[in-house]
Amino acid sequence: MPYVVTENCIKCKYMDCVEVCPVDCFYEGENMLVIHPDECIDCGVCEPECPAAAIKPDTEENLDQWLKLNADMAQIWPNVTIKRDPPPDAKEWDGKPGKFEQFFSEAAGQGD
Ligand code: SF4
Ligand code: SF4
Repeated sequence: MPYVVTENCIKCKYMDCVEVCPVDCFYEGENMLVIHPDECIDCGVCEPECPAAAIKPDTEENLDQWLKLNADMAQIWPNVTIKRDPPPDAKEWDGKPGKFEQFFSEAAGQGD
């Protein structure tokens, strides 16, 4: 029953979430993070820390696309536990629709 990172993380990536996760289960892509579903212990502490409200419990509806994306990308992206500065234009992209279609990238991020 993991938590999942959803579309509004794309191009926001504030990374407040990585500092609070007790099991370090965030993985970093080029412009978003994901949660490893087998490592997440469902504690929920990351959800209110996300300024973009991008983290959801998997009990919410219509998350199939994001459940798969978190599971798939956590296999290939590097682990990240240290918060870095968000992109300078992060605020501009907060809440914009259609970010997945326009900007999702399978490229790996920097990691720790
Ligand atoms: S705090 Fe939210 S928007 Fe920022 S990296 Fe974590 S999930 Fe993404
Ligand atoms: S719910 Fe808990 S264990 Fe899962 S990603 Fe968030 S902080 Fe980490």
